Amino acid sequence: MLKLVSSNSKETEQIGQRIGEILRPGDVICLSGDLGVGKTTLVKGLAKGLGIKDHLTSPTFTIVNQYEGKHLLYHFDVYRVNDVDELYAIGFEEYIYSEAVSVIEWAELISDILPKEKLWVEIKKDVNNSEDYRKIILIPNGIKYQDLINKLTLKESEDK
Ligand code: ADP
Ligand code: MG
Repeated sequence: MLKLVSSNSKETEQIGQRIGEILRPGDVICLSGDLGVGKTTLVKGLAKGLGIKDHLTSPTFTIVNQYEGKHLLYHFDVYRVNDVDELYAIGFEEYIYSEAVSVIEWAELISDILPKEKLWVEIKKDVNNSEDYRKIILIPNGIKYQDLINKLTLKESEDK
């Protein structure tokens, strides 16, 4: 587990970017946290880290958007998905078990159908801190994602 803090949206984007720079084909990133907490903001950074130049928009109504970078990126937002069958219908498993990087906003809503190995990124506000303050908690499911966290920790210490 790795706990990070962010004081503003720029910092959240930078954290996303650092993660994006070390992502590998097939990685699955699961984002959880309330509406407006900064999930899409983090994904914007992640896309930057993958060298994606396109403007990234929230896929709330389309469920998934696709971008080309160092690796292909599938950006999901499953907030409006009522039934997992809707996801199977769009080929969710083909997306997730591919050589692309997949990032899923509101992943906790579909926890039953997520792969066993993944990285959880939990973003939380803190009532005892400023309006823009966020806790960003990274939880690895699987050794592959522990490795990713180790790399990120090393990177954070080098950047300081
Ligand atoms: P979500 O995708 O979780 O619904 P968004 O990323 O779309 O959230 O929106 C987050 C909002 O919160 C943006 O308006 C952003 O400017 C604001 N914000 C304020 N502080 C932060 C922070 N530390 N990290 C991320 N977003 C922040
Ligand atoms: Mg969002």
